[in-house]
Amino acid sequence: MKAIVFERNGGLEVLQYREIEDPKPGPNEVVLKVKASACNFNDVWARRGLPGVKIIMPHISGSDAAGVVVDRGSEVHDVSIGDEVVVHCGIACRHCYYCTRGEEFFCHDFKIWGFQTGPLDGAHAEYCKVPAVNVLAKPHNLTWEQAASMPLVLVTVWRMLVSRAKIQAGDFVLVWGAGGGLGVMAVQIAKLFNARAIAVASSDEKLDLARKLGAEFLLNRKRDDIFQEVRRVTDGKRADIVFEHTGADTWPVSMQCLKWGGTIVTCGATSGFDAHMDIRLLWNKQQNYLGSHLGNKGELIEAMRFVEQGHIKPVVDRVMPLRELAQAQELMENNIVAGKIVMLPAK
Ligand code: NDP
Repeated sequence: MKAIVFERNGGLEVLQYREIEDPKPGPNEVVLKVKASACNFNDVWARRGLPGVKIIMPHISGSDAAGVVVDRGSEVHDVSIGDEVVVHCGIACRHCYYCTRGEEFFCHDFKIWGFQTGPLDGAHAEYCKVPAVNVLAKPHNLTWEQAASMPLVLVTVWRMLVSRAKIQAGDFVLVWGAGGGLGVMAVQIAKLFNARAIAVASSDEKLDLARKLGAEFLLNRKRDDIFQEVRRVTDGKRADIVFEHTGADTWPVSMQCLKWGGTIVTCGATSGFDAHMDIRLLWNKQQNYLGSHLGNKGELIEAMRFVEQGHIKPVVDRVMPLRELAQAQELMENNIVAGKIVMLPAK
């Protein structure tokens, strides 16, 4: 099969479109013919290399795939050849104390498929293999491209806002990167809960997208003073929830924008990990700082119900042939993607 493979960390030049052997399923795995795969920022981190994260070489990135089951291992009984599925990318042992409490993120074996797993698994290929427990039915109302674009960002944001931050009707939710992969989901989930999204983005095009998805207030971070604007639109109250993933550059403003007793929830640090924090705010204002990582399959199933009912919609910026993955990553690194880029393997 054809796949995008890299054998060392580096720039875009390490990505090679080449022929490798087709995957064979282990006893508990299924093989999918990939109809579409989606790009996530994790793909970029895997390629560049990330301190403290082991990237197994040779590596195929990609943690979102939609496809058809074409082979299954001897122990797989509840997934059939021909099933149309998407992938939940959280891999854990499923047997330990944490897994059986539904907290597989704390499992010693927890990994994100297509990011920390390997060698040579991941979605950016013609075929991929995953544990059978990690697939779920593709929503009928979505195309292959739309279906591939959703699971990772959807489950991450669902966990951040619903499970962790416990979003409520009427909450002001400050959403950084509101036109990005996570951001377009955050705006829609805020709307779903009758919360009031304050969308931040670097261009009016992305803000227009956020408006169409339900954002009530639009702030251009190149032009507006975010703190002053948040104070203005909330009548001085500030945000109940700050949706963070942007990191060092935005963290001090996120803290300023948070109300007394409010919650910052974060899952990432695109602009850097080393953020300054005045811990006096933590106790004086009795604020909550929450970390969040991916989401479990149950949370994805919960969120997918709203996708099937049309309340949360996929946002596909563009569809590109798989061999152009390097160009797709370049667009992501240049921060000009609104929603998701989806890759199609050759027919
Ligand atoms: P995208 O590239 O789709 O979007 C990121 C957005 O961040 C952009 O739209 C951009 O918006 C904004 N941004 C980038 N740099 C800055 C900056 N310096 N200041 C303010 N805003 C900035 O990425 P994703 O939404 O897919 O992912 C975002 C981050 O979350 C990544 O670091 C990713 O690794 C992490 N992540 C973590 C997960 C987890 O489970 N822990 C899961 C998924 C993602 P604009 O420039 O328009 O303001």
